[in-house]
Amino acid sequence: MSGFDVDLFVIGAGSGGVRAARIAAGYGAKVMIAEEFRVGGTCVIRGCIPKKLMVYASRFKDDFADAAGFGWTVPEPIFNWQKLVAGKEAEISRLSAIYRTNLGKAGVSIVDSRAEVEDAHKIRLKADGREITAKYILVSTGGTPVLEPSIPGLEYSITSNEVFDLPNLPERMLIIGGGYIAVEFASVFARLGTKVTLVVRSENVLRGFDEDMRCYVRDALSHAGVDLKTVTLPARIDKGANGLSVTLTDGTAVEVDQVMVATGRHPHTKGLGLDKAGVELDALGAVKVDAFSKTNIDSIYAVGDVTNRVALTPVAIREGHAFADTIFGQKETCVDYANIATAVFTTPELGTVGLTEQQARDQFDCVDIYAASFRPLKATLSGAQEKTSMKIVVDGLTDRVLGVHIFGDHAGELAQVLGIVVKMGGRKSDFDDTMAVHPTSAEELVTMRTRTARYERETIGEEGPGAAVVAVD
Ligand SMILES: Cc1cc2nc3c(=O)[nH]c(=O)nc-3n(C[C@H](O)[C@H](O)[C@H](O)COP(=O)(O)OP(=O)(O)OC[C@H]3O[C@@H](n4cnc5c(N)ncnc54)[C@H](O)[C@@H]3O)c2cc1C
Repeated sequence: MSGFDVDLFVIGAGSGGVRAARIAAGYGAKVMIAEEFRVGGTCVIRGCIPKKLMVYASRFKDDFADAAGFGWTVPEPIFNWQKLVAGKEAEISRLSAIYRTNLGKAGVSIVDSRAEVEDAHKIRLKADGREITAKYILVSTGGTPVLEPSIPGLEYSITSNEVFDLPNLPERMLIIGGGYIAVEFASVFARLGTKVTLVVRSENVLRGFDEDMRCYVRDALSHAGVDLKTVTLPARIDKGANGLSVTLTDGTAVEVDQVMVATGRHPHTKGLGLDKAGVELDALGAVKVDAFSKTNIDSIYAVGDVTNRVALTPVAIREGHAFADTIFGQKETCVDYANIATAVFTTPELGTVGLTEQQARDQFDCVDIYAASFRPLKATLSGAQEKTSMKIVVDGLTDRVLGVHIFGDHAGELAQVLGIVVKMGGRKSDFDDTMAVHPTSAEELVTMRTRTARYERETIGEEGPGAAVVAVD
C-alpha cells in the first residue's frame, strides 16, 4: 500500500458497497466502509426485505378467504400491525448483524459514521472529524425518496423510509405514484385492511412494463379495493381534526390518516463533497460512470442506485462485485444489463424478463406474441376471481424469445428461471420441446402453441424501412 491509510474506502454499506468491500478485502485489500444509518442499506433496512415480509403478511387475507372453498372453517382473522412491525424489525436487525459479521470476517473495518469526500483520495468521517486517505474511493450511497410534487402540505406526508415503522395501521391512506413501490404498498395496505386511494399522474400504473401486464395489475388493485385515480395529481394537503384532507387536481378531496409519496428516488449525492474532488454528476445528481463504474476521477468509482443505472439490489451487488474484481482482482469485469429479470410484488405478482411487446415491435421486424389468460386451478375451489396471464414475445424471424411476462402467483420465482432461458438465447421451439410439469400454472408456458398475434414491419410504401410494425394476424 503506497502511503494511504487504506486501499479502498467505501461510502455506504448497502447492497453494492458491502459486496464491493468484502470482495476487495478477499483479494487482500485494506478496506474501510462507512455507514451513516444501518448496515445493510435500503434493501435490508427499508426496501426489498421488509417490503416482502409485509407482502407475505398481506397475502394471508386471501389465504384465509380461499381456505373456505377447500373445507376449512377459519375464525374471523385479526391482524396486529404492531406485531408485524416488531417481527420485521427483529428480522432486519438479524440480517444487519449478519452483514456486519461477514464484513468483519472478511477483514473490513466498519465505521458508523457519515463520510464525505474531501478530495480524490481523502474522506472525512463526520462522527469524529477524522480524515482517512484511500487509494480508491467507492461511492455507494444509494438513493433517497423524492418528495414530489411540491405542493402545500407535503410535509404531512411520509415516504417508503417511514412506512415500515408506522405506529398504527392507517385506516385510510392515500399513496401518490404509479411505480412499483407505490403499487406494491397499495396492494399490501389494501389487504391489511386500510382503505387505499392510489393517485397516479398518468393513465395507468407501472410505466415501462408490458401494456397488458400494466392493465392486469391495475385491475387487480381495483379488485382488492384500491380506489385508483389516474391522470390526477394531488394539489394540496391540509391537516384537520379528522386527519389529512388531500385536494386533487380534479377538484375532489380525499380524507385520509396517512399520505405516502412514492413518486421516485433520486441518487444520494447531496452534500457528499464529490464536487471537491471534481466528480461529474448528471442533472439528477447521479454519479456519472463508465462501463467499469469509474467516474471522471481515476481514484473514485461509484456503484448502485447512486449511479442511476438500474436501481435494483442484484444490480448494485453485481456492480460492486465487478468493481472489486476489476481493481483488486486483476479481472476486468463489466456488468451485463441485458435481460434483467424483475418482479412487482403486488398480489398476484408480476414477473418479467426481456422486452415488452411494444419494445420488441419497435426493435424487430417481425414479432410473434403468444399469450394466455386463465383461471388457476386453486381458484376453482376457492372461488377467487383472479386470473393468471402469460405472454411470450418472440422474434418471428429467428424464433428467439425476447421477453416473457407473467401476472400470477409466484411470477417472481418464475421470472428468475425464465431469466436464465432468455439470457441463454432460448427459442420458442425450446419452450415447445420442453415437457410440461402437470398440474401447474407454469405448464402454460410450454403448451402455448398458437400465436395470438404477429406484427411485421411494413417495408414497402412511402414510409419505407423503419415504419410501424403492424398486425398481420
Ligand atoms: C421500498 C423499496 C422496495 C424495494 N424493493 C426492491 C425489490 O423488491 N427488489 C430489488 O431488487 N430492489 C428493490 N429496491 C431497490 C433496492 O433497495 C436498491 O436498488 C438497492 O438497495 C441499492 O443498493 P445500493 O448499494 O446502491 O444503495 P443502498 O442499499 O441504498 O445503500 C446505500 C447506503 O449508503 C448509506 N449512506 C448514504 N450516504 C452516506 C454517507 N455519506 N456516509 C455513510 N453512509 C452513507 C445509506 O445509509 C445506505 O445504507 C427497493 C427499494 C425500496 C426503497
